[in-house]
Parts: sequence; C-alpha cells; structure tokens
Amino acid sequence: MNESNIPDHKEPELRIAGLVQESIVDGPGLRLVVFAQGCPHRCRGCHNPHTHSYEGGITVSIDAITNAIIQNPLLDGVTLSGGEPFLQAEGFAELAARVKAMGLHVMTYTGYIYETIVAGLNRHDGWRSLLDNTDVLVDGPFVLKQRSLSLRYRGSSNQRLIDVKQSGRAGQAICIF
Ligand code: SF4
Repeated sequence: MNESNIPDHKEPELRIAGLVQESIVDGPGLRLVVFAQGCPHRCRGCHNPHTHSYEGGITVSIDAITNAIIQNPLLDGVTLSGGEPFLQAEGFAELAARVKAMGLHVMTYTGYIYETIVAGLNRHDGWRSLLDNTDVLVDGPFVLKQRSLSLRYRGSSNQRLIDVKQSGRAGQAICIF
C-alpha cells in the first residue's frame, strides 16, 4: 500500500475485535493479546476477516485493558494484534507505554512493512510513540503463497520479527529468530 494513502484515526478509546487474557502462542511467555478492529490490508487468506470492518467489534477504554493486565501478575507481556493497530496508533501507543511502565514486553503486529512505518513516523499521529513502545514488531501483510505452519509467531515467510530498539540504532530492520 502507498504510505501516502494511509488514513489517520484518532480514537479516545480503542475499538477492538477482542481480547485474550492468556496466550502462549502470540509472542514469548504468557501474554495478554488485544486484537484491533479495523484493517485496510485485506490480505488474501487472512485468518481474522471479522477484524477488517471499521464499524465492527467493541469500544473499550484503555483503563479497562490496563486493569486486566494489572490483575494478572503472571503475564510476561502484551501483544497488540489485529486488525491493524497502527490505525489507532495513539490509543495503542498509550496502552503500550503503560505496559512498558509495568516492566512487561510489548509485541505489535502490523500489515505495514517496517520501512513504511519509519517513513510515516512524522506524518501519522501516534506512530512514533507506538513504535518506540514496542519491543518486537511483526511486520508485513500475510501472503498466502508464502504461508508456512513452521514459522514462529507469524503466518507467512515475508513477515519479519523485528527488534525495534536495535533497528532504530542500526537505521535498518534487524530481525530476531
Ligand atoms: S494485516 Fe492481518 S488482519 Fe489485516 S488483512 Fe492482513 S492478515 Fe488480516
């Protein structure tokens, strides 16, 4: 997708498709997973087509999600999945900042590639903060032809697990695993 065509969304609350209180398959350790509602990418073979609509799902306060995280001392981290979290970047950035302040790990999925996110940091509200408060970014659309069941935490081999801090220092995407 052309980065200049990406819409900006400003949400006082998060519109989410759902929330999983405990997962061991959406990142390292035990994690709470928040699924953003709304996705512009329309990947063929997407496993979560119900997350595409911008009107679907439910709205929930960031405080309510924060409380759910606080109430589970066993959590190692929080995963922001979708849908497309960067469409509600300000809200997810606020949530991610709270998670980091608790000393937990943040993993964020996006259908945009890392380079598109970096190119848009100054043009889209919340993108810089969401990226800065993410430890690992799983980037890129799901590509059916590159689908593999053996990949860790991702569905197709074009998707990368990117160490955000190392990448920022290096000026290019640094992958882990
Ligand atoms: S980015 Fe994710 S949620 Fe959006 S269409 Fe692609 S696979 Fe589905």
